[in-house]
Parts: sequence; structure tokens; C-alpha cells
Amino acid sequence: MSKAKPWLLLCALLTCICSAALAQSKGKLRIYFVDVEGGQATLFVSPAGEALLIDTGWPGNNGRDADRITAAAKKAGISKIDYVLITHFHTDHVGGVPQLVARIPVGTFIDHGPNRETTDADTEQGYEAYQKLLATGKYQHITVKPGDTLPIKGFKAVVISADGNLIDHPLPGGGEANTYCKTSKTRPPDETENARSLGVLITSGMLRILDLGDLTWDKEMQLMCPTNKLGHVNVLVVSHHGWYQSSSPALVDAIHPQVAIMDNGAKKGGSKATLETFKNIPGLEALWQLHYSEEGGQSLNTQDAFIANPQGPDNGNDLELTAAEDGSFSVLNPRTGLSKSYSAK
Ligand SMILES: [Zn+2]
Repeated sequence: MSKAKPWLLLCALLTCICSAALAQSKGKLRIYFVDVEGGQATLFVSPAGEALLIDTGWPGNNGRDADRITAAAKKAGISKIDYVLITHFHTDHVGGVPQLVARIPVGTFIDHGPNRETTDADTEQGYEAYQKLLATGKYQHITVKPGDTLPIKGFKAVVISADGNLIDHPLPGGGEANTYCKTSKTRPPDETENARSLGVLITSGMLRILDLGDLTWDKEMQLMCPTNKLGHVNVLVVSHHGWYQSSSPALVDAIHPQVAIMDNGAKKGGSKATLETFKNIPGLEALWQLHYSEEGGQSLNTQDAFIANPQGPDNGNDLELTAAEDGSFSVLNPRTGLSKSYSAK
């Protein structure tokens, strides 16, 4: 009888653990917050098993961001991304598209319509590369407007903002006067693609998750004042990587998030002002960050165990959220192994 090799046993054990974890999460919503160094790439796998990727990170770096997204897809046990939603055409969101499609099949692209920031060379370049791919006819393509529902199976994703337009009626659960409008200063309109971000509210079972891309402060005020059109949200994907141009009290205080997850880089986003705002959000149970923010310093960053990538060498660690039908959910920091459970309120 031949002796089993130890590495073979280890592989078998790891495969076993991974398959057991996947089997356990079947029928649940899973979200992978991929670290793309201050851009966005958030992978949702619905309880029905369909995948929605919101944004594709940066171009270049030998496909670093596309590699990280495909690694997350592998962890999730999916071999195709059914929908890729591009919030807007800045390079940290659309830039990674060509490298992504070279690595994993994509079904449908969703966006807000044409690029409106044609004066910015980087934005135009990212947009043109994306248009070139669409022109191949290999992918379905949908342009959406506020109030539309994405065709994904397993959860409901309603478009809140797109191309500078916003929903004009409160959603179920919204409609109350917003007292936080008074504490939010008025800011001039943002003229870039940020203000045109395609934002969605995802409802999965009892859980409500808001992701507005890089939607800016002026649009937040339009959306949320004088009436809170969104109501309460359980999980907030912090807009604009935690940069101070977004996250007005009129939005973040009024929606009363239980948990906020910030896709900041070490030196991009994670502004002092925004971190301060998140220290004072009523009812916020935890802020999780993809990176320690250099700007925030020790006093303003969330605690180390809630940070995917602390100071020092960057390993591109992600954060992972799993949610059940009843709205209970947990957030895992694979770097530290810390997993926190929350019951939906
Ligand atoms: Zn961005």
C-alpha cells in the first residue's frame, strides 16, 4: 500500500473546507469587497446564484484588479459574472473592464448612458475602451434610469441615481421629513462623471444595501431633502471611497446604517471629515475599511481588526459579507479571521 503524500492530504482538506463553506453559504447573499486601491469593485452573488459586479477597478498594473476580482469570483464558486454595472466612467471604475473580460466571461453590462465628461483624457480613454468591447457584440448592454429594476434574479436592485437624475418618489419605507438637511451645508453642483453615478438600492430578504458609486454631496442633498426618499438602510457602501466630496449628514445620518463599508485606498478617500462623520452616525454599529487611511491617522480610522489592509505591505485583502433571508448578516475580515454577526434592524 502506498503512503499518502502529506501535501495531497492538505489539498484534500482545504478543498473540503472550501466546499463546506460554499455549501453553507448557498441560498445566501454574498458580497465581496475587492481591494482595488481606492477604486471600486464589489461582487454580489445573489441567493439565486447570479452575480453582479459593481465596477471593475483600475486599468494597468498587469491586470492586478481583474486578478483580484477573478480571485473573489473563484472564492464565491462562480465561473461567470452575469452583470457588470459601471457606476460612471472614471478610470478607477471602468478602467479594469478590458482586463476583466480577458479573464472571466461576462453576460451583460449596465451603465447610465454616454460619458458626459469628454474633456478629461483619462475618462475618455476608459470610456472608449469600454465602447470598443460593447461594439464587438459579445455582450448584452443595458442603459438604466432612476426607478428601473435590474434584471438580476435573487434580489431586487432598484436604480436610485443615473446620469445626474434621481428617483422623484420615495421608495417603500421612505417619505419622512429629513431633519438632517439642516445640518448639511449646501455645496455647488459637481460637474464631473461622479455626480452622474449609477446608484442602486439592493433589497435581499429583509436586508437593504445602498451603493451610490461616487455620487456627490450636491446630488445627495437633492435626493434626500426635504424628504428622505430611501428610508433606513442596513448596509452602506460608503460613497466615493470615503472622500469628503460625498457623505453629507443628509444622506448618511438619515438612512441610519447599521454597518458601513468603505472602499478607500491608503492615500485615496478615507478623508478626515468623512471619518469624523462616521464616528457620529446615530446607530452605526461598525465601520469597516478596505485600507487604513493615512489621512485619518490613529484617532479617526476604525479599529485595526475591522481594516482589511493595515499600514505596511499591501496584500490586496478583501472584506466579505454573508446575509440570510431574515436579514441577519455577518462581515468577515479574512486577514484577521474576525467575523462579526449582526441582526437586521
Ligand atoms: Zn472613484
